[in-house]
Amino acid sequence: MNSIFFQEQAIQELHFYLDVKKPSLLLFLVDEHTHECCLPHILAEIATEIPIEILEIESGESQKTIETAYQLWASLLDLQADRQSLLINVGGGVITDLGGFVASTFMRGISFLNIPTTLLAMVDASVGGKTGIDLEHSKNTVGTFAQADLVLIFPELLQTLPNIHIRNGLAEMLKHGLIADEQHWNDLISVPKFSLELIQNLIPKSIEIKKNIVEKDYKEENFRKTLNFGHTIGHAIESYFLEINQPILHGEAVAIGMHKELNLAVHKNLLDSDVAKHIQEHLVSLYEDVFLLEYDVEKVISFIQKDKKSSHNELKFSLITSIGTCAYNIAITEEEVRNVL
Ligand code: NAD
Repeated sequence: MNSIFFQEQAIQELHFYLDVKKPSLLLFLVDEHTHECCLPHILAEIATEIPIEILEIESGESQKTIETAYQLWASLLDLQADRQSLLINVGGGVITDLGGFVASTFMRGISFLNIPTTLLAMVDASVGGKTGIDLEHSKNTVGTFAQADLVLIFPELLQTLPNIHIRNGLAEMLKHGLIADEQHWNDLISVPKFSLELIQNLIPKSIEIKKNIVEKDYKEENFRKTLNFGHTIGHAIESYFLEINQPILHGEAVAIGMHKELNLAVHKNLLDSDVAKHIQEHLVSLYEDVFLLEYDVEKVISFIQKDKKSSHNELKFSLITSIGTCAYNIAITEEEVRNVL
């Protein structure tokens, strides 16, 4: 599993890593926002003689494509990156997913580090070794399992992150509570709306929950599937809005996904309907505007059919059975999905 470090310890570990590994070149991957808001803070902390290059891409999910990956591979070649070069991803989940994918495929794999700068990337995307790009708007369809050598977390970088992206990351933290830790759920729902200071205190717990799950089942053969709660429908909704050129945030799509999948859990007699209602009320109060969005049910279903989580033409869902426990590989028919959508 990734080695994850916070704040001062993260800087110490980074210097220790550079001393031991002696990379030939440090390549920082950023988007225009993290270039401006985050990279200067990080560069100010790094004392090294190793040459540094900066690779900037445009921000946004629309960059998680083979075209951008190709441009980055070509840039690495132009900059004479070799197998001892180190890619350092400084950004949200788009940068860590894309950068991890590029690093893990360039010259059959070079080392990379993640410095997540969004809440979502800190608690989820940068941890656990899934990298990837989207294909024809279908989320994360091409990718690798590849671990960053280090994940370095500086919560103060969140100061410049717009509130809407705090809410985005909160969805994955709520999911962590719902699938594995009731106390974490209770702590999160008691935080006054998007208080960054209080949410920050809960980041280590969320990471610990994800890390524990991934350590039990890195390649998602069984238990890791619990992390997909809310994601089978969520990814399809996200893909749908990406395709119609009105992208919504990953966490927003997951909030809708969790809401709908709670209905599936009740329908399958896995979850008490009052518990589902209690969770749904919280989701609606946090993501009210998102629940007003309209979508084409049949198109969403067609994205679900392409999902990596289905097998042998069967739709398989991860559904919670109480707050803090989650079942996986639950077979659901297309008709049952249509009913909850
Ligand atoms: P993102 O990377 O697009 O970042 C959101 C926005 O915030 C961007 O505009 C970015 O430029 C800006 N930004 C980032 N850090 C900032 C900062 N500190 N200050 C100001 N602006 C900042 O989106 P995201 O929500 O972080 O990540 C979404 C992606 O993560 C999706 O593609 C999703 O599929 C992926 N994801 C991956 C995993 C995984 O396990 N690999 C898990 C969950 C999500």
